Amino acid sequence: MRRPMVAGNWKMHGTRASNKLLVDELQQRMTDDWGIDVVVFPPYVYLTEVMRQVEGDSIAVGAQNVCAEGPGAFTGEVAAAMLADIGCTHVLVGHSERRRLYGEDDALVARKFAAVLAARMTPILCVGETLDERDANQTDAVVSRQLDAVLRMSGVKSLAKAIVAYEPVWAIGTGRNATPAQAQTVHAVLRSRIAAQDANIAGLLRILYGGSVKAANAAELFANPDVDGGLIGGASLSADEFERICAAAAVQP
Ligand code: PEP
Repeated sequence: MRRPMVAGNWKMHGTRASNKLLVDELQQRMTDDWGIDVVVFPPYVYLTEVMRQVEGDSIAVGAQNVCAEGPGAFTGEVAAAMLADIGCTHVLVGHSERRRLYGEDDALVARKFAAVLAARMTPILCVGETLDERDANQTDAVVSRQLDAVLRMSGVKSLAKAIVAYEPVWAIGTGRNATPAQAQTVHAVLRSRIAAQDANIAGLLRILYGGSVKAANAAELFANPDVDGGLIGGASLSADEFERICAAAAVQP
């Protein structure tokens, strides 16, 4: 019922040459038969070039960040309207690296989410707990708080045009992924919290898992009923790994 998605967050990696090679390889390997959506998130400066390269095929291109404000005197920032103008379709908001390293709090993330929607793009809202929070049994409370900030500002109906990614902070870039059961538990918490406001929207919403997904563990993570694909960091920089992760998403019912 929900079409799986595999999203590749390239973070602050790549050069014009390495991006071209990676996309060339992906284009050779991707097939529409998989029945999934694939989006890549290059650094801002490479967006246009990657878009040009994928033009006409099924790989979409999104941005890793956005300014919450409209165009104006915000030196160094990029407005949602600008991303839409160059052809971005998706934007990550609330990635844990933005929350942790750049002090983005729930309120700012909610404003970014709203800005992306206002520019008619799809926000991918990232939520997730730290290891300390998990150890203190705070996981459900933390992801619920992060989700609620967006629900309060944009309303549950906004999730009809959005995607959520559960990314436990302790699993990002660490090589230590959540177990399939841990992922499923949190995805189900998120979906039922949304269902309490709108069951239809909750049923249609895609919730991706992110955190050390690789070819070797993708299939077991994606096999969970509430896991609708993945947000992939490190492994998205290898065409071979990324292809195998996409193939794992494709075999899901
Ligand atoms: C991410 O950056 O969103 C991510 C999940 O990274 P990694 O796959 O490298 O853990």
